[in-house]
Amino acid sequence: MIAPVLPTYNRAPLSFVKGEGSWLTASDGSRYLDLGAGIAVNALGHANPVLTAALTEQANKLWHVSNLYQIPEQERLASMLVAQTFADTVFFTNSGTETAELAVKMARKFWYDKGHPERVEFITFEGAFHGRSTAAIAAAGSEKMVKGFGPLMPGFKQVKWGDHDALRAAVSEKTAAIWIEPIQGEGGIRVVPDQCLKGLRELCDETGPLLIFDEVQCGVARTGRLFAHEWAGVTPDIMMVAKGIGGGFPLGAVLATEDAASGMVAGTHGSTYGGNPLGCAVGAKVMEIVSAPQFLDEVLRKAALLRQKLEGLIAAHPDVFEAVRGQGLMLGIKCKADVAAVVKAAYAQNLLTVPAADNTLRLLPALNIPDEDLTEAVNRLDKAAANVSV
Ligand SMILES: *Cc1c(COP(=O)(O)O)cnc(C)c1O
Repeated sequence: MIAPVLPTYNRAPLSFVKGEGSWLTASDGSRYLDLGAGIAVNALGHANPVLTAALTEQANKLWHVSNLYQIPEQERLASMLVAQTFADTVFFTNSGTETAELAVKMARKFWYDKGHPERVEFITFEGAFHGRSTAAIAAAGSEKMVKGFGPLMPGFKQVKWGDHDALRAAVSEKTAAIWIEPIQGEGGIRVVPDQCLKGLRELCDETGPLLIFDEVQCGVARTGRLFAHEWAGVTPDIMMVAKGIGGGFPLGAVLATEDAASGMVAGTHGSTYGGNPLGCAVGAKVMEIVSAPQFLDEVLRKAALLRQKLEGLIAAHPDVFEAVRGQGLMLGIKCKADVAAVVKAAYAQNLLTVPAADNTLRLLPALNIPDEDLTEAVNRLDKAAANVSV
């Protein structure tokens, strides 16, 4: 008999009743150290008192009015994002997937309005993850995500990771945009080198397509810069943001230049909940905290500490682990042992991690995790690794 909750997830037999910082209390009272942070969502830890105050203060005033009216909290958050990034304008959503939908619509409308209705194709990358809508799965194109869900939305071409020649060959007069995660999350914490992001920008400038960055997972200070692409010194035309921006409240945003967004006039897109006062009040508080230079410096310091400890861990367990990769506090450990077995062994040490493709263990701690919790996490991973059979 099917469960009351549609069984699309293989869930661990764990449930939590309370969170505080990087710690979760399970229903049996045991405590877990959380290095997954809700898959890079709880950027400031669980039950952060500052975010709770922002949420409850807004909750006591006004939850929802719809986008039929001006929403000052939304305007405030949009202005903060515009002030801190390449973008001139922002549309708010409730999730990452919805930002993928708008990115596709925006790029196609841009070319349609410029008199190039033939430019409808997107070039994406093998291992990409942009969400679970029909457009987002067509963009990723992996068998795991698309099998049984055809006919797929047309207009997406996947290029092999790191294959520059294939990329150049894929660009044509029909290309609307090149669409990439500066660091692949689900794909296994694969960092696009700065040189390649620069190359992508040049390729787009040379041949016409818009450049879309999906920073749903790698954005919002996770790499020690407000957005990951800042490291490469290039900017996209359109950027998808979600996960960390709400600190746990469902919130996403599409950021764009004035030119890229020029086709999205009144009536072309909408959302009942997107940009509601609750989400935007929390998002503004998250932005206020994570965009402070001292906060970003702290992320980098913690990241260096964690990385150094992980190098030691790998050296101690060369049969279980292979290498660390990633940037800032978006780190992956490529495993030699089966990553699912490592995640399970970590559960046994009351440590939460997240598996990713390419047999990679993901560590996505809260950005404000105390140093001693990082040390404790690596100690627990050490014990977990000792119990993994290879
Ligand atoms: C999680 C994720 C998405 C989808 O976000 P949802 O909020 O789950 O819809 C899109 N892109 C990337 C890079 C992600 O990590």
